[in-house]
Amino acid sequence: MRIVLVGPPGAGKGTQAAYLAKNLAIPHISTGDLFRANISQGTPLGVEAKSYMDAGNLVPDSVTIGMAEDRMEQSDAAGGFLLDGFPRNIGQAKALDGYLTGKGLKLDAVLDLEVPEDEVVKRIAGRRICRKDSSHVFHVEYNKPAAEGVCDACGGELYQREDDREETVRKRLEVYHSETEPIIDYYRAQGLVVTIPALGKVAEVTRRAMDALGRGE
Ligand SMILES: [Zn+2]
Repeated sequence: MRIVLVGPPGAGKGTQAAYLAKNLAIPHISTGDLFRANISQGTPLGVEAKSYMDAGNLVPDSVTIGMAEDRMEQSDAAGGFLLDGFPRNIGQAKALDGYLTGKGLKLDAVLDLEVPEDEVVKRIAGRRICRKDSSHVFHVEYNKPAAEGVCDACGGELYQREDDREETVRKRLEVYHSETEPIIDYYRAQGLVVTIPALGKVAEVTRRAMDALGRGE
């Protein structure tokens, strides 16, 4: 299956992508991983991407599209893939269509993870991270530490990351609305969009998505 996963920041997209890819036995292709891999391997696209990033500029779509196409060419992606973070705007979506059409392929579904906006803000802005170990993650409401501001695991101080502040989250949501949401309409016109309510336990959301893909048990 060839799937695109979309959803606002805070919808648990990365987590769902990992579970779905595993259940469907297809590679999980995330933009973050693509950038890290290309840059660490020093590929021409990685070098180009890095030059933009080092200058504090946005990486042009052509570079991102090139990385995604290279990855989709790899043998493990021959039977399908799950794209996460790509395409993130209409230009990228059209490029993906062009690429697939050229290969005589098409997408099977676009999974749209849906969460109410205030819930997204609450989830992200409530996050507290341990200064000693960033894998120690708490939440002021959903996963409270025993003592406020102190990590249960190691006693480290808990803090809120700059990226997690409410104003920052609202800004990221605005970017999502203006740039990424239009691709949902674009794909809806192709009859590909399946909307999955993404509130609730991770396993429940995965089950909803598998059911929607006709791969439920
Ligand atoms: Zn800790």
